[in-house]
Formats: sequence, structure tokens, C-alpha cells
Amino acid sequence: MAGFMDSINKGLTTLNVKTSNLMESSKLKTTISTRESEIVSLKSFIGETVYLNRANFSMDMVSEQISQIESKYSEIEDLKAQIAQLEEKEKEILGNATHNNAPKIYCSQCGAPNDVDSLFCEKCGQKL
Ligand SMILES: [Zn+2]
Repeated sequence: MAGFMDSINKGLTTLNVKTSNLMESSKLKTTISTRESEIVSLKSFIGETVYLNRANFSMDMVSEQISQIESKYSEIEDLKAQIAQLEEKEKEILGNATHNNAPKIYCSQCGAPNDVDSLFCEKCGQKL
């Protein structure tokens, strides 16, 4: 039974890692696209300001918006780095899970794969 519980736990770990990483990275991606559309609005504000003040435009009129754009771009870089980190972590954990699953013996009755140290088949209960 230990082998059976082990493979259930490994399966759940894999599932949890996948699910929580997926939720985390889709949250990060949503934030990125929010920041990107905020940047578009800021750029459009800057363009409008340049146009309306074309006779006496000065950079001071938009310096606030420019620094907001800069900080949003650097926030996006951070978010992308976090997503890359999540993917890296997932590969690491899933890679280990796959590696741990490697040695198997197959049930003579139903053909299910079992851990080499299992006494009974985890699927049909056949003595191995
Ligand atoms: Zn079996």
C-alpha cells in the first residue's frame, strides 16, 4: 500500500504544482496586459499634450507621464522574470517526479505499472 500512496502523493504534487503555477502565471500575465494598456493611454496622453501645446511645448508638461511609463516598463520586466522563474520551478519539480517514477514492474493480471517494491498490484490487488 505504501507504493500506492506514494504514487497518489506524487500525482497530487504534480497536479498542485501545475495548477498553482498556472493560476499564478495567468495572474501575472493579466497584470502585464493591464500595465501595457496603461502605457498605451499614457503615450496617447503625451501625444495629445504635444499636439495641443505645439506652439509652446515643453518636456515638463509630460515628465510625470514619462516617469510613470518607465516604472510600468520596469514592473513588466519584473513580472516576466517571475513567470520565467515559475516555469523553471515547474520543470524542476515535474522533472524530479518523472525521474522518481522511473522503475516499474507490470502486473501479470491487469498490466498496470507498479513500484518495484510493491507486494500487490495497486490497480487490481494481484500479488506481484
Ligand atoms: Zn493488476
